Amino acid sequence: MIKAIISLFWLVFLTLNAYAASPRLESFSIVNISPAVENVIFTFNKVKKYRFIMLSNHYWYIAASGEKIKIDCPLKPKLSVKRILVRNIRNETRIFLRMDSRYKYRYRLLLSKDGKYLIVRIEKNLSKLIPKPEAIKKPVHIPIIVIDPGHGGKDPGAIGIYNKEKNVVLSIAKLVAYYLKLKHYRVFLTRTGDTYPTLAQRAQFANKVKADIFVSIHANYALKNRLQARGLEVYFLNTTSDARAIRLAARENGIPVSKVGDINKIILSLIQSSKIDKSKVLATYVYKSALKYGKRVYKGYKGRGVKQAPFFVLVDTRCPSILIETAFINNPKDALMLRSPVFKRQIAYGIAKGIEAYINSPRFVKQ
Ligand SMILES: [Zn+2]
Repeated sequence: MIKAIISLFWLVFLTLNAYAASPRLESFSIVNISPAVENVIFTFNKVKKYRFIMLSNHYWYIAASGEKIKIDCPLKPKLSVKRILVRNIRNETRIFLRMDSRYKYRYRLLLSKDGKYLIVRIEKNLSKLIPKPEAIKKPVHIPIIVIDPGHGGKDPGAIGIYNKEKNVVLSIAKLVAYYLKLKHYRVFLTRTGDTYPTLAQRAQFANKVKADIFVSIHANYALKNRLQARGLEVYFLNTTSDARAIRLAARENGIPVSKVGDINKIILSLIQSSKIDKSKVLATYVYKSALKYGKRVYKGYKGRGVKQAPFFVLVDTRCPSILIETAFINNPKDALMLRSPVFKRQIAYGIAKGIEAYINSPRFVKQ
């Protein structure tokens, strides 16, 4: 019923207006000439004067005096014209058009001699696609790195000639974090003082902050041959059958050697091979760089290689993870170096540079 009344009213309204002298928009259509050109054709009863006002490249209107027509018209999604609105403002009819904002346009207007057709030729610049605002605002992914100083608190780690492992590795870890922060990475330490987060808590922390890289820093300890045992080892998580790596894993995990086999099994069943592969690449970058910078101040600094072992602290992290045994804390020469602030700075810088090289490599993927 209401609909019928409105229709009737509309008909009367149009009929009355047909007798009015002022221009009236009767219809409009959009013709797609080519992918780059669209013609918007406005049909008036008669129009002599009009104004074309560009509010922006994507929003413009045509104003002609008189008329009280109101159309609100959504358009087909394929067209460059996204919306047409006709409003009566200050005794003129204004036809507003909103364009697809991904493109830039050129407009040309043409009025037919009889004043019936006003054509707006819209030329779309197809080559210059304007990126969407979301694409521009999308934040750059800053790599997140978690540095884990081994042991701490009730767990001193290995007892060296001059130092406890927990103290040496904390100072090196803080320096690594410092150098990485200079490069504007987001860096977290699993501990900043003499506290003991459990191995599981350290990995959980890395997952919580959505780490892209996890680096655990340690100092090595030789049970036998401590006078010969020297140098750097970088480990990535994997199973091992190497007796020395098993002993080391047992010590760092705080479990008996006999239990290491259990972790071997866990690793085989749980860890994705992609994490192992990436961890190996990370380990290689860090190993090369740490050795290079370490040797600059410590000529006798030995490289013992990139190795694999089942470390607890590396099991639960979701990102590529490595464990660095910087040097032997109970070897007289290595221990002296682990006490030296110059060597600690140098090795920390080498580790940071190695992490950076991995981030800049094609193998790095943001988590
Ligand atoms: Zn350790």
